Amino acid sequence: MLFGRTKKNPVSLPQKDVARWETVTCGYCSTGCSIDVGLDAQGRAISCRGNAEADVNRGKLCLKGIFEFELFETAGRGTQVLRRDHIGEDFTPASWDEGLDLLHDEIRRIQKKHGRDSFAIISTGQMLTEEFYTLGKLTRGLIHTNNYDGNTTLCMASAVSGYKRSFGSDGPPGCYDDFEHTGYLIAWGSNLPEQHPIIYWRMKDARERRGFPLVAVDPRVTMLAQEADLHLPIRPGTDVPLMNAMMHVIFAEKLEDAEYIAANCSGLDELKEEVAKWTPDRASQITGIHPDTIVSVARAFARARAAMQIWTMGINQSTHGSDGVTGINTLALITGNIGRKGGTSLSITGQCNAMGTREWSSCSGLPNFRYLENDADRAEIARFWGVEEDIFPCSRGLTQTDIYKAMEAGEIKGLWLIATNPLTSLPNTAQVRRAMEQLEFCCVQDCYVDAESVQYAHLYLPGATWAEKDGVMTNTERRINRVRPIVAPPGEARPDLWIFNRLAERFNRDGTMTFPEKAGDIFKEMAKISHGRLADISGMDHALLEEHKGVQWPYTKEQREAGEEPRKGGVRLYEKPASFMHADGRARLIPLPWEDNNERPDADYPFWLNTGRLIEHWHGRTKTGKIAGNNKFSPIPFIEINPDAARDLGIAHGEYVRLVSRRGDAVVMAMPTGRVPPDMVFLPFHFHNAANRLTLGLLDPHSRQPAYKQQAVRIEKIADQQQAAKLSLNRRTF
Ligand code: SF4
Repeated sequence: MLFGRTKKNPVSLPQKDVARWETVTCGYCSTGCSIDVGLDAQGRAISCRGNAEADVNRGKLCLKGIFEFELFETAGRGTQVLRRDHIGEDFTPASWDEGLDLLHDEIRRIQKKHGRDSFAIISTGQMLTEEFYTLGKLTRGLIHTNNYDGNTTLCMASAVSGYKRSFGSDGPPGCYDDFEHTGYLIAWGSNLPEQHPIIYWRMKDARERRGFPLVAVDPRVTMLAQEADLHLPIRPGTDVPLMNAMMHVIFAEKLEDAEYIAANCSGLDELKEEVAKWTPDRASQITGIHPDTIVSVARAFARARAAMQIWTMGINQSTHGSDGVTGINTLALITGNIGRKGGTSLSITGQCNAMGTREWSSCSGLPNFRYLENDADRAEIARFWGVEEDIFPCSRGLTQTDIYKAMEAGEIKGLWLIATNPLTSLPNTAQVRRAMEQLEFCCVQDCYVDAESVQYAHLYLPGATWAEKDGVMTNTERRINRVRPIVAPPGEARPDLWIFNRLAERFNRDGTMTFPEKAGDIFKEMAKISHGRLADISGMDHALLEEHKGVQWPYTKEQREAGEEPRKGGVRLYEKPASFMHADGRARLIPLPWEDNNERPDADYPFWLNTGRLIEHWHGRTKTGKIAGNNKFSPIPFIEINPDAARDLGIAHGEYVRLVSRRGDAVVMAMPTGRVPPDMVFLPFHFHNAANRLTLGLLDPHSRQPAYKQQAVRIEKIADQQQAAKLSLNRRTF
């Protein structure tokens, strides 16, 4: 088997006085790179290098991983519990007992006064899986609010929804090894080199050796589009018409895999009826892609020996996000490209443990992809946790995006935020502020005390971060990787697991439920209730994960007992006929009618505003904004603007401009570039008080995920450039 550059030396920084190396998993993106952190004789983290034995990254790291050792000592770390009676007052220090008693009492006070669901809990994709499981157990088993969600609704909800609709369950079916076997790759709305640099390297390495065609579908000329064989510069939000037209061509030319469809799928007639309406000419009018191009891509995709599709936020963060994912799945299904080497629909996930929360947090259901709506699932978990079945609601509560609307309407009175910063990450910041102002009580649990959400906190709990904690994370290809505590958290900061367990003691005074203290014991509990399910981890434990530098699920206890070693890479779902998770084992071919429902540019707001990521920063920039090696590359909020548009507006390179939408404004620096078309600007979303002052955030009807990438703005020149620089500077600092 080829392993590319495995044998080359791992990346390393100029050597300092490293006394020992400790291996953990990167805490930024979902690629799941294995990192050796160098510690000096005093146990201080002073260096990072990629671990060459790990199959995921094979010695490589991106810019974020290389400087991750600096994270532990970044400015603004919270070191003590803080409380205050009223917003705007100064905080006073408190003990952990005082803080946890207050959180317990306020949850119960608000629930007693306003009802069980009037207290909301919103977590993250940044914690470890054992922490997600424990928080879910505490929330579902003891606190009982149904308004419980994670910030993964902002990035992965459409992928989850699309997988469930097509396959009957969440769970990406493919893996990185598919790059080694595919004959054709379409990347939908995914700028892989900047968003997931090491997955990009895996793809590029395979492509250099094997030469498969790459098609990039993206409104911008992204880095990936620049090296693609074909770039389809699609109009924002019109992916579904393009998919429908590709299916139209595939059926019209009888290029479908009829045998695979007959054995594995249902809904063929309804699908054919819908896509018959989507001629390439019609789709071309909507998407801006030439009909001949649509035909040739559809033909090449269907004729490939194995064809692979990947996507990220260009699909998910849309009013058609769930439909877009379903369309990708359907294209794969009708060409027999699921469950085979090199043929897959692989959602590249976002945060380091977005998959862990999907699998185990109980946010949208119960552990391991169980449904609240399913009687047997509720009964099974109630028995296992030792609680009455009727404490569980029979359907999921509000998603994060709807929780803030309910807060604004006064229906939710209390909020516990865990490792998420909605004032940077949610669309329409002004609306989020209005919602936060309505709360009777807000607790923010975060490793940073200077996170903007703390402005609205009555109680602040200092959490530990990343490799100050013990547990696992699941990456994009379902690989479970270890994270170990290699340094101590600062001051009185504590691991989230410790905080959940101490709070559970306060709700669990009669000892009805058990909450194991150690992450390894929690993992064993999770392994037990995973047995026989899609995400079966019953053959794993922490020691095995460390030994193999991560193991992909499923890996069952039967496999382990039979002496079957975990594969180094290449585990796929749905390899057996009719093995999908719908009751009849068949995948659904779902027709996708399309409606143009986005805010669009007009005479008053003539530019599309597109948002996205840069390689050097991570999401809200709470971490990377404080790490010099990351921040120096783009410390100032900026837009990409087409040089023709800049010239027409009289805007020079490096000049500050004011972006205005119907929601608010932001001062940003103009960077003319041909990467964007003349009617679009691109604004990286990392900068505080910038992109989300402007975004609208219309919601996908299935996933409730916001559309961050399709809204309208105008550009205003600023006469006083020095004042604008100060404004921009103030907004980029904490
Ligand atoms: Fe970390 Fe992702 Fe970079 Fe790997 S690619 S080092 S997981 S941020």
